[in-house]
Amino acid sequence: MIDLRSDTVTQPTEGMRRAMAEAAVGDDVFGDDPTVNALEAKTAELLGKESAVFVPSGTQSNLIALMAHCQRGDEYIVGQLAHTYKYEAGGAAVLGSIQPQPIDMEPNGSLSLDRVASVIKPDDSHFARTRLVCLENTHQGKVVPLEYLRSARAFVDDRGLALHLDGARIWNAAVALGVPPAVVAEPFDSVSVCLSKGLGAPVGSVLVGTASLIAEARRWRKMLGGGMRQAGIIAAAGIYALDHHIDRLAEDHANAQLLAKLLGNVPGVTVKGHDTNMVFVDFGVADYRAFAARLKGHGIVALTGRSSSRLVTHLGVTSADVERFVEVVSDLEPGS
Ligand SMILES: *Cc1c(COP(=O)(O)O)cnc(C)c1O
Repeated sequence: MIDLRSDTVTQPTEGMRRAMAEAAVGDDVFGDDPTVNALEAKTAELLGKESAVFVPSGTQSNLIALMAHCQRGDEYIVGQLAHTYKYEAGGAAVLGSIQPQPIDMEPNGSLSLDRVASVIKPDDSHFARTRLVCLENTHQGKVVPLEYLRSARAFVDDRGLALHLDGARIWNAAVALGVPPAVVAEPFDSVSVCLSKGLGAPVGSVLVGTASLIAEARRWRKMLGGGMRQAGIIAAAGIYALDHHIDRLAEDHANAQLLAKLLGNVPGVTVKGHDTNMVFVDFGVADYRAFAARLKGHGIVALTGRSSSRLVTHLGVTSADVERFVEVVSDLEPGS
């Protein structure tokens, strides 16, 4: 099976499974799990922050960050297409009583700071209190430029706001830029990262920030049911992923580039964009569901859409898989 749906479909590698089997564990709600503690310390250090908390998912990590930054009746400014706003079931509003102020995003995945400025509310009882700006990197595979991130920092400092990063794929951004992850994290007060996407761990995210912010976030994690017990079993997979699977993201990026290049030569197929480990294509097929079913018949799973399909490379996809995928697509004569 070649599975290009997402980098969340990876299976734990043999080395990762061994690390999980051998992990020393304890009750993490008591702070007793040495492997969770080691993962938190390691992630905080990698991202240049004071403290960290291990959580089951990126969704929970973003939510506890927003709840730690904002009080009931506060507001956060976020991109229309950002994961925290669009794909997390409205958790900030529903569970945090935090009002989102979504705004259109720039083509590179950033938020225009002029546009952000225009929606910041004055201190007046008519309005929610604007408290936080939330960015995402990578966004749809795109690496948001470092100089933009630094200007966003200066912007929020001028206005007394906080800055959170949904860095589910910060590792891809760092590898693509050729800088340590801490450089990408530097402008932010808090950063949420996923271990279960490109890094290939089966479960887990980590939120990093100041010790006081993380202490607050830890309280929300418990309330949301994210306090896990002998969680070292899964934290061990995270440590293994940080040690062994960051540098290899370059292979995923090379495979995405190869995929974009080869698909570009297939008649009827339009490559609409490709960045880091994602390729966006229009297969030019009238019935994209039937097309997906035909791919499946050849042992390939992909999320196809009407005019745009997202293909994602990850540690379960080799360059040979990419070549085979493009061969199958060519044989299906998508444009005809
Ligand atoms: C996947 C993802 C999340 C959420 O992670 P889950 O572990 O699936 O809850 C947050 N932000 C971005 C950009 C993501 O891609």
